[in-house]
Amino acid sequence: MTKETKIVIANWKMKLGLPESLDLAKDLRAQKLRGDVEVTVCPSFVGLSEIGALLNKTKIKLGAQDCFWERQGAFTGEVSATYLREVGCSYVIVGHSERRQYLNETDEMVHKKIKMALAAGLTPIVCVGETFQQRQEGSQDYILINQTTKALEGIDVGLDQQVIIAYEPRWVIGSGRAIDPSQAELAHQIIRQSLFDIFPSSLINNNFSIIYGGSVDGNNVSHFTSLDNTAGVLVGNASLDAKEFVKIIQNV
Ligand code: PEP
Repeated sequence: MTKETKIVIANWKMKLGLPESLDLAKDLRAQKLRGDVEVTVCPSFVGLSEIGALLNKTKIKLGAQDCFWERQGAFTGEVSATYLREVGCSYVIVGHSERRQYLNETDEMVHKKIKMALAAGLTPIVCVGETFQQRQEGSQDYILINQTTKALEGIDVGLDQQVIIAYEPRWVIGSGRAIDPSQAELAHQIIRQSLFDIFPSSLINNNFSIIYGGSVDGNNVSHFTSLDNTAGVLVGNASLDAKEFVKIIQNV
């Protein structure tokens, strides 16, 4: 993936069963997608193998929605990053706000998951973002710096590895109303700035990408992807409709 390549990641969350997931994957497989966009779909764990097999001969990549922070062991119900790699994943979402909110995922857990994802050869998609209340209080910059730093400080990122940071204002996710692109741009600058306190600039320039997520659709996507510090988008609801998702890819 070159720096010019835009990133479009679909987070299917727990919104589809297996038959619908396979249908959606088949619909996407039938499309002629732009070559300069890296498209990834993140289905539920149980669909990964089958969907991976369906997309095998396409350029669409496979991602998981989470992974565990230990390599292996007695952790009933968890899925290791190595396992995800074995079933064909290239990416894994880490620290999505829904997991932070409903499953009490902490910055420390996110940090450990990133470490394990990289060790397994996966590219982590690290989600950060403030709540509505934090924005109202004016603490969003602090939240972004804090989440980014706690997630990534002390992590070894190899020259052959990539890290994607998804800025997702929590209150916008699933709302159908994206934030003003200028606010996303400011947030991305803050995130990028906090990376400079942790990593050398050459690594940030070559191995880190910042993307936006939160009610992206086919009409607003280009407002975000045309921003300076924005390498692409993470898409929830609008990725569940093949036509809308293809529109996003076309308009990116
Ligand atoms: C998400 O869940 O990561 C997301 C961006 O959702 P939506 O596009 O529905 O806001």
